[in-house]
Amino acid sequence: MHTQTTDADVLIVGYGPVGQVLALQLAARGRRVTVVERWRTGYPMPRAVAFDSEGARILAAAGIGERIGEIGEPSGDYTWMNAAGQALLHVDVAERGRCGWPESTSMYQPALEAALIERGAALPELTVVRGEEVVAITDHGDRVEVTSREPQGGPDRVHTARWVVGCDGANSFVRGVIGTAMTDLGFSHDWLICDVVLHEERRFRPNNLQICDPHRPRTSVSAGPGHRRWEFMRTAGETVAELNTEKSAWRLLELFDVHPGNATLERFHVYSFSARYAETWRSGRLLLAGDACHVMPPFAGQGMTAGFRDVTNLSWKLDAVLGGTADERLLDSYPVERRPHAKHAIQMSVNLGRIICQTDPKAAADRDMVMLATAERPVSPAAARQRSPLQPLTGGLLDLSEKGRPVRPAGVLTPQGRVAGADRAGWFDDVVGPGFVLLCGEDPAALLSEEERQYLDTLGARLVRVLPEGTDSGAADAGSVVDTDGVYLPFLAETGSTAVLVRPDHYAFGGAADRAGVSRLVAELRAGLGAPATTSGD
Ligand SMILES: Cc1cc2nc3c(=O)[nH]c(=O)nc-3n(C[C@H](O)[C@H](O)[C@H](O)COP(=O)(O)OP(=O)(O)OC[C@H]3O[C@@H](n4cnc5c(N)ncnc54)[C@H](O)[C@@H]3O)c2cc1C
Repeated sequence: MHTQTTDADVLIVGYGPVGQVLALQLAARGRRVTVVERWRTGYPMPRAVAFDSEGARILAAAGIGERIGEIGEPSGDYTWMNAAGQALLHVDVAERGRCGWPESTSMYQPALEAALIERGAALPELTVVRGEEVVAITDHGDRVEVTSREPQGGPDRVHTARWVVGCDGANSFVRGVIGTAMTDLGFSHDWLICDVVLHEERRFRPNNLQICDPHRPRTSVSAGPGHRRWEFMRTAGETVAELNTEKSAWRLLELFDVHPGNATLERFHVYSFSARYAETWRSGRLLLAGDACHVMPPFAGQGMTAGFRDVTNLSWKLDAVLGGTADERLLDSYPVERRPHAKHAIQMSVNLGRIICQTDPKAAADRDMVMLATAERPVSPAAARQRSPLQPLTGGLLDLSEKGRPVRPAGVLTPQGRVAGADRAGWFDDVVGPGFVLLCGEDPAALLSEEERQYLDTLGARLVRVLPEGTDSGAADAGSVVDTDGVYLPFLAETGSTAVLVRPDHYAFGGAADRAGVSRLVAELRAGLGAPATTSGD
């Protein structure tokens, strides 16, 4: 028997962290969202332990900024040592990254998910169907039919939606329906993960430590306030079954003076780390995000955050298509923009993993020699950029040159600083609000024709003039903010722009030096969105 239960603008399969963020982003824009999640309650144990500054900015925009201090703490420093205790690499993780938030925040994933779920429960447009597994999906061209049932059996329930996003994790059902090929980078290592609560105050110096000991690569990191994680790689001659026991966990934790007398072992589990991505992220009305389209080893702390970036890129596009301000072809820019980005994060994680997971003593000694020789040398800006998870977009809905390359600052993640507006001060994203922004060093009225202004209005764009740091905040009016942290005017100057058109996901669409340049940007955006601005529905 079939029962029709929900009809939505977007149906999300899976309510893990990526599905949760997407649901908030869409429901906050007024879209009707249904989530179907297999399990009745959230998974109670952490996987991820950190997110970066862009991840924090995304979470804040999703409405849980005030909870980040309770869920997480700045990650602090990160050191790699060899078996002899010599520092191979030391990274001071900045307390303030490009997005204003710490470069890395260590967090307790169950607390993060609880905050996201609580926020979701306050949004009337969001319906979460728990305890149902999606078992069939049919794309009818103008809508999608999704069938779910309880995992242990029972009647089928049919849901309809205009779009379906698979946020259903590494074994994604939606990915199977799309039928995409997967590219596998051939990385595979098993690690025992131990999540621990210590009963005693202990300061960890460094706070995050990687011990590159070829006999047993191991890790000790913060896992959010009151939580620590230790990880131990499976080595030759040891089976997963042997490693995956409480006895093994305690035996290995002893290496760090952690034992039943001073700690509670919340859980232990052997994970197989791999590196894979899907070739196709969109097929008709079906899309993929998060682990459903990319998995990576956790060494760069990027898996979940990459998923947050996916949905931040996708949600405003779905919203624009549903709202009639963009043609559905806009959705093709989603994989074009996100796949290279995710591939970079995967490659970065694999590169780190290949160094960390070295178990050949001779190769490890060679590695140590090279790393010790270069440990004190400053990292060149180009190498630092390459190693950063914050990468520019390389194509898609951007101001592109004739050769199809982004014209700087197109594709760059805009920085975030504190600003003072007419009636409040705080982070730019909070004070100015979500959506497109035309960030201007001078009066926007002088940079736009009436027709261009009206078009930007239909997109809900905010026109913001930035006043120099030090200006009395009383000088700010409804259309201007004072650049309290001195972030925005230097950004405009650095990119040679009088105005930068910023997309709702905080990436620059493009910059312009003058009024003619702004006209060109607006015309390009209009062409890229591919639909006359109307307020009608899909
Ligand atoms: C040990 C470890 C450490 C990590 N550390 C980090 C880190 O520090 N930083 C970081 O960013 N990332 C890290 N990651 C990666 C991170 O945990 C994942 O990338 C992230 O959890 C993926 O979230 P997701 O929402 O895409 O998928 P999931 O969390 O897997 O959620 C998918 C959801 O979909 C549901 N589902 C699946 N199939 C169906 C179906 N057919 N019907 C209905 N529901 C379905 C599942 O029940 C699940 O709730 C780590 C991973 C591991 C294993």
